[in-house]
Amino acid sequence: MILPPATLGMLGGGQLGRFFVSAAHELGYKVWVLDPDPHSPAGLIADRHLVAAYDDYVALDTLGSECAAVTTEFENVPADTLDYLTKFIPVHPAASAVAVCQNRIAEKSFLADNGLPHGPFAAIRSEDDIRNANAGLFPAVLKVARFGYDGKGQARVADRDEAVAAFQHFKGEPCVLEKMLTLDFEVSVVLARDEAGNVRCFPTGENRHRNGILDVTIAPAQASACLRDNAQEIAERIADKLGYVGTLGVEFFVCRGELFVNEMAPRPHNSGHHTIDACDVSQYEQQVRALCGLPLAAPRQHSAAVMVNLLGELWYEDGKGHGTYREPDWSVLHAVPGLRLHLYGKHHARPGRKMGHFVVTGANTEAVLGHALAARAAIGIRDE
Ligand code: ADP
Ligand code: MG
Repeated sequence: MILPPATLGMLGGGQLGRFFVSAAHELGYKVWVLDPDPHSPAGLIADRHLVAAYDDYVALDTLGSECAAVTTEFENVPADTLDYLTKFIPVHPAASAVAVCQNRIAEKSFLADNGLPHGPFAAIRSEDDIRNANAGLFPAVLKVARFGYDGKGQARVADRDEAVAAFQHFKGEPCVLEKMLTLDFEVSVVLARDEAGNVRCFPTGENRHRNGILDVTIAPAQASACLRDNAQEIAERIADKLGYVGTLGVEFFVCRGELFVNEMAPRPHNSGHHTIDACDVSQYEQQVRALCGLPLAAPRQHSAAVMVNLLGELWYEDGKGHGTYREPDWSVLHAVPGLRLHLYGKHHARPGRKMGHFVVTGANTEAVLGHALAARAAIGIRDE
């Protein structure tokens, strides 16, 4: 067991890392963050911020000699970096698990090889792969295999010609071609798994996206208990097969009542932010616990919760990214009972950039959802 006042290493300085730093501090640990951005949200509150690239081996040597263990908040940390650090200290999740989650071809193949439910897809490495793809895949989504996030690196394609054009637009980068599914809704499971293989799931949440970016999470999901349990079981199987240690997010599509795994995130997940406000242990504290070998808590959600993401366009006069740049009127949100605002300290808002979120908690999901959607409209988020 790694106990306080040990220093923990965090690869990545985004908001997920920032919440990890807070959780680790609460438990008495120190945290050093590695992120090339001098203004990174986690770096701002870390005990030390190493401003360096993820493949800066001098910085990695420092992390390896000063920290007791290291984890990540960012799936695109090079697997080589994680492998390198393993020579010095425990690294969780392992490079092999991160490697599967950071490449959509590896991820989809992992699901297929392990008999886990997923939508129809083809790996695309050449234009020939598109020509040979099953006609039943169209209309489809072409997604770059690496470095896509928040709907970036994706194109909706009606047919083969459009897929070829999109593939060229992506400069021939390896991609997956996924059948466009008609979704009933989307859900996700956040879980933690320790080295002994114990798994603790948070209740299944329901996710609504806007322009390919998570907009609202409703927790627990307004779905049957059977579907919610099934999602947890599938997520648990994924964590076991990956030999995963840490906090893992698994996204699902629900299609005609059936679950299909969309993707996995080898880190805490945006849809688990509310665990800070609505559960007796957060996804970030579980990440600390798994990393340090502390017993995982059995999470109990004590309140229904709805989370709303606050994206950079809100900082602009028209709410879409145009006009005067100004701070949203937070007093509107602070007036809502049961609402907690979390801002990440990012120094500049760009449209689509995750700047903060709020969570409304209460006794019943329907009422909480009503209050959260009213607050969402009041702060200026529009649906068209
Ligand atoms: P990201 O890494 O950007 O989260 P996802 O693959 O999760 O990428 O896609 C983002 C969102 O786009 C999904 O949550 C879903 O709403 C929509 N989407 C992605 N793939 C499909 C698909 N094959 N069929 C229907 N909707 C999809
Ligand atoms: Mg996603």
